[in-house]
Amino acid sequence: MIAHALHRRRSILAGLIGQGVAPSLTPPMHEREGARHGMNYVYRPIAIEPSDAEAGPLARLLWAAQRMGFDGLNVTHPAKQTILPLLDELAPSAERVGAVNTVRFDGARTIGHNTDVTGFGSAFDASFAGSAHDLVVLVGAGGAGAAVATALAARDIADLIICDASEDRALSLAERVRPVARGAVRGVDAEALPGLLPVASGVVNATPFGMAAHPGMAFDPALLAADAWVGDIVYRPTDTELLLRARARGHRTISGLGMAMGQAADAFEIFTGEPADREAMMNDLKDLVAAEAAVHPV
Ligand code: NAD
Repeated sequence: MIAHALHRRRSILAGLIGQGVAPSLTPPMHEREGARHGMNYVYRPIAIEPSDAEAGPLARLLWAAQRMGFDGLNVTHPAKQTILPLLDELAPSAERVGAVNTVRFDGARTIGHNTDVTGFGSAFDASFAGSAHDLVVLVGAGGAGAAVATALAARDIADLIICDASEDRALSLAERVRPVARGAVRGVDAEALPGLLPVASGVVNATPFGMAAHPGMAFDPALLAADAWVGDIVYRPTDTELLLRARARGHRTISGLGMAMGQAADAFEIFTGEPADREAMMNDLKDLVAAEAAVHPV
């Protein structure tokens, strides 16, 4: 009788490949959601070094995970792009951004997705779908900025301006997302930012500014028009200096929690085929971030 009951419990094996992934909050988010679904859900951080992200070692890691019965993997820096040519198929989210953060093993086939793109997209729609988006400024054109730019480009934004301290990075990301954008996309140097903020409908921070280890702000929200909205993708801490100051001035805001929860919930659904309880996952994430802040106060 007991053996029969255990046999019926679904087991899922997943993991996160990347450099320095040990403190990631994604494993506990998946395991808690799996437990709510009555699954034996095991999600392991798999720390790699930059040399492991090259084609040969990464292909062997994928092969080994498949042989060991993994249902799927999340992938982060530095393997998000090097993994592309090793996969059999790419979902549109991964194809558009040119990076993969989620791999599903479907028998012998490997399918790459990008749930940073879909995660930010859903968080943005939940708060700002009904707003006017004449001119939106994205500050930060790194790995996460590329996912945000891809999601924004697919929305009704007349003018998307990508700004980075490295003008080359801003220009090259603008060039990459332009073919999939509904409106115009430009890349500019960070020096142009003070002139753009007063005329922006909204602005998203995708720089590390605001993280516990990287305090401060990439720009001053006092430069924004009164009705502009402000998004931050940093979520450790949840209330960054940028968001606190923007809220104090009456701006509508979204924190990075929505993107972080959304990427995990979308990956959970890709791995298991079952709908994630997003509200419960958001509560878990808030608890995890608060518990982490209590152990490592700023
Ligand atoms: P990254 O280092 O790849 O990119 C950061 C970019 O910001 C760089 O291109 C850098 O030149 C630019 N930058 C730095 N200071 C700037 C300034 N003052 N003005 C303009 N540009 C500036 O980092 P990343 O992987 O893209 O991550 C950025 C942040 O996003 C992380 O620190 C993390 O907190 C957050 N993040 C959130 C989520 C989420 O799910 N919410 C996911 C990934 C990353």
